Amino acid sequence: MNPLRAVKGMNDVLPGESARWQRIEGAFARVMALHSFREVRTPFVEPTPLFMRTLGEATDIVEKEMYSFVHHDEPLTLRPEGTAGAARAYVQHAVNNREPVSRWYYMGPMFRAERPQRGRYRQFSQAGAEIFGDPGPACDAEMIDMLVGFFHDIGIADSRVEINSLGTPGTRDKYKEALVAYLTPKMEALSDESRQRLEVNPLRILDSKNPRDVEVVKGAPTIQGSLDADDIAHFKGVCRCLDALGTQYKVEPRLVRGLDYYTRTLFEIKGATDKLGAGDTLVGGGRYDRMIAELGGPSVPAIGFAAGLERLLIASETAPEGQKVDAFVATLGEAAAPYALTLARDLRRAGLTCEVDARKSSLKAQLRRANSAGARFALIVGDVEVAEGCVQVKDLAAQSQEKLSRRDAVASVAARVGRDGTSKPPDGPPKELS
Ligand code: ATP
Ligand code: MG
Repeated sequence: MNPLRAVKGMNDVLPGESARWQRIEGAFARVMALHSFREVRTPFVEPTPLFMRTLGEATDIVEKEMYSFVHHDEPLTLRPEGTAGAARAYVQHAVNNREPVSRWYYMGPMFRAERPQRGRYRQFSQAGAEIFGDPGPACDAEMIDMLVGFFHDIGIADSRVEINSLGTPGTRDKYKEALVAYLTPKMEALSDESRQRLEVNPLRILDSKNPRDVEVVKGAPTIQGSLDADDIAHFKGVCRCLDALGTQYKVEPRLVRGLDYYTRTLFEIKGATDKLGAGDTLVGGGRYDRMIAELGGPSVPAIGFAAGLERLLIASETAPEGQKVDAFVATLGEAAAPYALTLARDLRRAGLTCEVDARKSSLKAQLRRANSAGARFALIVGDVEVAEGCVQVKDLAAQSQEKLSRRDAVASVAARVGRDGTSKPPDGPPKELS
């Protein structure tokens, strides 16, 4: 029988790698807390119409990337992104009645049926955030600056911010007309896909990665010329705040993004192309002031972003981490296992990480395992130690060994790994060592 394998484009993260994930997730949660965002957790499965309504039917995601199925007559979809679910939850729980401004963040898996390649998977993880109830422009700039700071924290120094304004639906319609007028005579030069888009969603031609389209689009009018006075004031406000913060950015007048829901501020943050290739966009974000009302809620402005964690991991390139326990308890003989378990519990109560080996294997094999677990100390217990209530404490770095009472052993190891005083063993404070 062929061994079963994971679904194509859906990856395992084994423990050696997961430490890197945890570092980035921890850094993100810290940045979020510093900026007063709180975590929201929404289901991985949502009603399919939610994505059709929010993302738009003529988008890559809805047209060809969703994992959709029908269950008991209900059309359902594995979430391809996080904003739609967050907005649905915001409306469903009438959160605006409780607080004028909500700052939410999330982290977790998303699902898109794409062609898998480096930085592009069918199950991938996003870290994202939304601010509901603040029309900006200051919070738009705060969000962008926060992301640049976060990237710096996780070792991505070479990120590039691109911003644009998409205006409001009214100004965007004006721009669509200008764009269609420019592209129609050049239709033959466009890719087949873009020729179809010309009728359904011409803005998306600007987002095409097809070299033929890229060439044609170079001379296209930009949206900046169609913005109204309020849109322009808003965009200038974002730029002014970014300037005050000293955040580097580039105004990219042809930046549009694949989703219909955006209004006004739009941004992308890119990483080094030599590491990431074509998938060099680390973050996509923007304002979506109409979505909450379109989902049946009140008129509440909103802005959000989503970062792809796999791409952040590629860009930050930190080394995978080996395992590291403080202490390893090796056992020899029948009586040792129960004694070792209670000793290990005392060590853990003193705040030390530890592993017990009760496999009944040789001391040599157990010490090899201690080394591969990254242990600083091996605590060896055999029949003699059990009878005497003591432990052999072996410092694996210094290659020294001493016999200590149980309590002294715990205190000594805790002191030497700098963990003493974090929490007390149950039977009183450890004895002072001479
Ligand atoms: P792209 O243009 O690369 O397809 P997108 O516009 O579809 O990106 P968004 O929907 O804005 O991406 O998602 C935000 C971020 O999520 C992206 O910038 C990227 O970092 C990440 N991302 C999107 N799709 C994938 C995927 N299939 N695999 C891994 N990461 C992804
Ligand atoms: Mg995409």
